[in-house]
Amino acid sequence: MESVLYQIIKLRDELHQHNNYYYVLDKPIISDYEFDQKLKKLQDLEDLYPQYFDENSPTQRVGGQITKNFETITHQNRMYSLDNSYSKEDLLEWEKRNIRLLGTDKINYTCELKFDGASINLTYENNLLKKAVTRGDGFQGDNVTANVKTIKSIPLKLPNSQLSSFEIRGEIILPIDGFNKMNQDRVEAGEDPYMNPRNTASGSLKLQDSAEVAKRPLDCLLYQIIGNNLPFKTHFENLQFAKTLGFKIPDSIKVVNNLDEVLHFIDEWDQKRFELPYETDGVVVKINSVDYQEELGYTAKSPRWAIAYKYKTEQVLTKLLSVDYQVGRTGAITPVANLEPVELGGTIVKRASLHNSDQIEKLGLHINDEVYVEKGGEIIPKIVGVNELKRNNESQIVQYITHCPECHTKLKRTEGDAKHYCPNEYGCPPQITGRIIHFISRKAMNVDGLGAETVELLFKHKLIYDYADLYALKVEQLIPLERMAEKSAQNIIDGLVKSKEIPFEKVLFAIGIRFVGETVAKKLAKHFKSIDNILKASYEELITVDEIGGSIAQSIVDFSNNLINQHLISRLKSYGLQLEISIDESIKTSEKLKNLIFVVSGVFEKISREELKLLIEQNGGKVGSSISAKTNYVVAGDNMGPSKRSKAEDLKIPIISENVFYEMIEE
Ligand code: AMP
Ligand code: ZN
Repeated sequence: MESVLYQIIKLRDELHQHNNYYYVLDKPIISDYEFDQKLKKLQDLEDLYPQYFDENSPTQRVGGQITKNFETITHQNRMYSLDNSYSKEDLLEWEKRNIRLLGTDKINYTCELKFDGASINLTYENNLLKKAVTRGDGFQGDNVTANVKTIKSIPLKLPNSQLSSFEIRGEIILPIDGFNKMNQDRVEAGEDPYMNPRNTASGSLKLQDSAEVAKRPLDCLLYQIIGNNLPFKTHFENLQFAKTLGFKIPDSIKVVNNLDEVLHFIDEWDQKRFELPYETDGVVVKINSVDYQEELGYTAKSPRWAIAYKYKTEQVLTKLLSVDYQVGRTGAITPVANLEPVELGGTIVKRASLHNSDQIEKLGLHINDEVYVEKGGEIIPKIVGVNELKRNNESQIVQYITHCPECHTKLKRTEGDAKHYCPNEYGCPPQITGRIIHFISRKAMNVDGLGAETVELLFKHKLIYDYADLYALKVEQLIPLERMAEKSAQNIIDGLVKSKEIPFEKVLFAIGIRFVGETVAKKLAKHFKSIDNILKASYEELITVDEIGGSIAQSIVDFSNNLINQHLISRLKSYGLQLEISIDESIKTSEKLKNLIFVVSGVFEKISREELKLLIEQNGGKVGSSISAKTNYVVAGDNMGPSKRSKAEDLKIPIISENVFYEMIEE
């Protein structure tokens, strides 16, 4: 019989390893299910035997620690910045100085991409992550260890190495996909989207609740290891050594023999960098020899042995014609610049986002100004500066509006909010139609045949004022509308009837309570089971629910206390929408899947992975842990791992969707 402690240690080691396979090497060797099972087993053991607590256990990655004030820590080795260069000439200049100071022209360089995120210094002692500190002013930074531990690609425990202690530096980044997904969720929940991945990454490190950080898809790319007894005499080899310890060191790094090759690397990545899953803004060139690095040392600000080359972001000058103000479904005002059309990166640009009034003030924008426009990671370009020399007496400072452009109500701006809001919730047309358009959208009620334009049309003709009105519509009312054929009118009505079957959690999302996005709606539906329970819930009850914070709870309470909303909900009820969780009668136990082996992968829309597995077993099937020749079907949700997909394809195993699976077990 193995001792409990032995079991715990073994599980921890295994999980550390699997973490590395999954998050660093991107080649998982066990299924997510097995991983979850092991993690759960470890968690159970740790709960039972708290005396074996370990702050670096894989269970600690979920976070939970709250930091009110981040402790200031003095760096053992200063975190310098880098000198910047913008041209070949700058680099040649740098090379000349190196040759002069070192007395040789035989100098190897490493070329690395300059990752755009927040720098971090990780300290390891006895193979354990001890500290993670931000750069701060270079001398002192903030202790953000609890938050950084939630980043899965950062090893908490290293395999035994000779190094007793060392520091490793890198960049905490937010990959573009993850960033966009976060923003999509925020917009759907009626929150402002984040500006860019870099700021969001550094902002994430300063969140007080590490469990919040754990939910963000942060990653960490390492670029420098510092220690007294590093095994090699070149920067490149030391980084490759760090890679064997489990750190994520991108393969883009390259050793070159001279400056020509550096320039070639820069050229090569000028465009290729846009294919990477994260943002980069340049190349960092470093002298590869550690001895040479030491010989050259540092200036007051930066190492002499390294230089950053910044890629030029394509910029154009054009004229600011006017500023429009858009009103969102939550009443949030977004200023948008209208520009004299100009080509930028192969497309014609006519509009640029301005985000909020602070942004306009910061730029000091005048109408008729010549402005610099740039494309960032976002889809719509942005104004980054003004050519003040060209300003003439035709130009007039942009005065931010004080009243709603749609309903003329005086705008409000609450302390701490970047945006202005129109408070006329029930009388402001874009807010009314915005809520209805959100209600019918694909992720909400998904009403076939009905789109945003038709909603505007119905509102214009005074046929609807809120989303409940949709269910009272009759074909005869629709047919007289512009461009409305009888068939499309009937389709709309059919789509609405069908939407009455949409499950409660989606209805809850569709209702559009501020801050209640898709995920929160799911949590609420699962916990409270019905709209009545949610409307009755107090603030205190709400915040006890997993993932429901203060602002969400307050928003729900405000919604529930509002008579108009109460009336709206009771009308939805009377039309027969799903306002409570239903137990789907069609899915009973059966023998339909007898002798079939399923592998389940990814995230599912309608049920959790565990529920899906249960369904397979209840219907006589077996759940396999990994794809093999014996597997009959792979049920794939969102985010199925690429290696799994290719394995299934290699073995020619059918990959089916969640819905196809339901069809297999339905009558
Ligand atoms: P700057 O902030 O312009 O002074 O540039 C220095 C910063 O670039 C460092 O603090 C790092 O956070 C960041 N950086 C990104 N990629 C690299 C890299 N490959 N090597 C060194 N520094 C990098
Ligand atoms: Zn308004």
